[in-house]
Amino acid sequence: MAELRKKVLDLIQSTHVLVYSKTTCPFCDRVKLLFKKMLVDATYIELDKTDNGAAVQEALADITKLNTVPNVFVNGDHVGGCDSTLAAFSSGKLSRMILAGQKRLDPTITDHKYDYDVIVIGGGSGGLACSKELGKLGARVCCLDYVKPTPQGTTWGLGGTCVNVGCIPKKLMHQGALLGHGLDDSKKFGWLMPDAVKHDWSTMVSAIQNHIGSLNWGYRVALRDKEVKYSNSYGEFIDSHTVKCVNRRGKEEVMTAARFVIATGGRPRYPDLPGYKEYCISSDDLFSLPHPPGKTLVIGASYVALECAGFLAAFGFDTSCMVRSIFLRGFDQQMAEKAGAYMAEHGVKFFKKVIPTKVELVEEGPPRKLRVEYKNTSTNEVGSEEFNTVLIAVGRDPCTSGIGLDKAGVIVDEKTGKIPTVYEQTNVPHIYAIGDVLKGKEELTPVAIQAGKLLARRLYGTGKLECDYINVPTTVFTPLEYGSIGLPEEDAIAIFGENNIEVYHTYFKPLEWTVAAREDNTCYGKLVCNKLDNERVLGFHVLGPNAGEITQGYVVGMKLGATKADFDASIGIHPTCSETFTTMELTKASGADAKQTGC
Ligand code: FAD
Ligand code: NDP
Repeated sequence: MAELRKKVLDLIQSTHVLVYSKTTCPFCDRVKLLFKKMLVDATYIELDKTDNGAAVQEALADITKLNTVPNVFVNGDHVGGCDSTLAAFSSGKLSRMILAGQKRLDPTITDHKYDYDVIVIGGGSGGLACSKELGKLGARVCCLDYVKPTPQGTTWGLGGTCVNVGCIPKKLMHQGALLGHGLDDSKKFGWLMPDAVKHDWSTMVSAIQNHIGSLNWGYRVALRDKEVKYSNSYGEFIDSHTVKCVNRRGKEEVMTAARFVIATGGRPRYPDLPGYKEYCISSDDLFSLPHPPGKTLVIGASYVALECAGFLAAFGFDTSCMVRSIFLRGFDQQMAEKAGAYMAEHGVKFFKKVIPTKVELVEEGPPRKLRVEYKNTSTNEVGSEEFNTVLIAVGRDPCTSGIGLDKAGVIVDEKTGKIPTVYEQTNVPHIYAIGDVLKGKEELTPVAIQAGKLLARRLYGTGKLECDYINVPTTVFTPLEYGSIGLPEEDAIAIFGENNIEVYHTYFKPLEWTVAAREDNTCYGKLVCNKLDNERVLGFHVLGPNAGEITQGYVVGMKLGATKADFDASIGIHPTCSETFTTMELTKASGADAKQTGC
């Protein structure tokens, strides 16, 4: 028993987040869902599947005085069972415990036997932020960035996904679409304009690409200013301190470093089906497409698919979207459905529960004519339709193969290809990873930037802060934007129990929409609160114009553990959409209609 007790204690001390559980225990399921939602990569020991499970449980009872499961530990400290873990989450204590465990990774060493102190592989959101911060702190840094062309041949400059083929061109096209809608509104405000207003795709694309070009240049200058060596070459580990770098012309160079940061991001996934790679485009091609896309099919139903379908329809293209199962998996489904319904009202046709089976070329273009064959997954009915453009948006794969991680000894998750880390440190102590390649973290630009900056400060400065991946806010830039922080309603119910959750909600109509004669009862907000903890707000959700701006403001409150009473005590700014959250009185449980009938 003494030996087993020591083994259990050693594991508790050496594991970041450790949960002793049983596969049949519903309380364990709640804690597992909680950690999943917190994006915490916990280690689970299933006592009913372990040979000496009963003896381990006895040892645990001896150590913690708790003889039930789940039994949760964070960085060696005991959290407790299900109720204690949920209470610690609600109060913010659990997040603090998770963030507090970091010992200094390793002290700054400037080891001149290597070419560089740090080589950062990937010059996207995370890699650039990390490289610039390292340079500022005086480390000798090299940043490698190389873009492999898409199957359609598209390529771009320094800055990674966000700048070239992600957030920036996407938000600018979203803005282009909103302006179009604004033109309709403006007539009601007295602006006189011709009835037939048309959009010119090529003008927009070249304006956006010009802006991106200036950003690419700006990044090069910023690296130079911070004395970071930039190499436009593809990096591949030869061993754990050496990379082979190959540039555009195939010229090879070998470089060594004391440490590495893997920030290679992700690329669109292409399903293994006939015609996909030959004829379809992805978001990597769309934003620089030289000709108007024409009649377009978007395959997928999450962030990329819905955002792109939204602006394409607004520009006047005949746009359809193929939804395999649900909108926006992982998000609050009531909100997701409402965002989708608004798109359907505004010109996007949805094929629901339908998957494509084949794409073939009917006629060369541009615009091409493509025939898409598809199947309904509920009825097995098949069909086909012709489109000019097929945009694949079925997820992204991390760029972790073909970069020699096996030669460096870095472990990669077999199923997803993503890199497991604790505080951005991989299993190889001097190799770190940030951004979209991380296992179980949000794929978002500010997350990659924050992780990169803080890691640099911990490695070469006096920084002690960890990147906090909990309660990361996000906004889906669908035609009606959806912003959220924290738990979806259904997850809050699954974790805390239906009786313990109170949901406050209301529809609202932006003042700007009234004169413009836009729809009533379309914009919607809700607060998901924990009745067990003073109505602490666990989930914030808003669907409406500028949801991104609204949501960002409430993050501070959520981080500080705001309760419903704190929202009520905040005075609104009138007339705004955001003020809705300071005056929400109606609970879902009351059954009363949340629709607004007057102003
Ligand atoms: P990336 O930005 O992808 O950078 C990785 C870089 O490394 C790339 O330049 C790549 O070519 C390079 N590279 C890869 N392998 C190697 C190698 N072996 N050697 C050298 N270089 C290499 N996030 C938001 O927060 N808000 C949004 O609105 C938003 N919109 C998006 C819209 C779209 C269409 C997409 C696709 C993504 C969007 N994202 C958004 C997500 C965001 O772009 C990513 O989370 C972010 O770019 C990740 O940064 P990163 O540093 O991990 O990787
Ligand atoms: P996601 O992984 O979020 O979604 C993939 C979508 O494709 C799901 O709807 C999925 O359906 C569907 N799908 C997957 N495989 C198939 C298939 N074989 N056939 C048909 N449909 C399929 O990927 P995204 O590319 O949308 O986004 C990637 C990441 O980029 C996001 O997680 C986000 O972090 C980031 N991003 C952020 C944005 C923002 O902040 N505004 C904007 C864009 C991207 P199912 O649900 O059935 O699995």
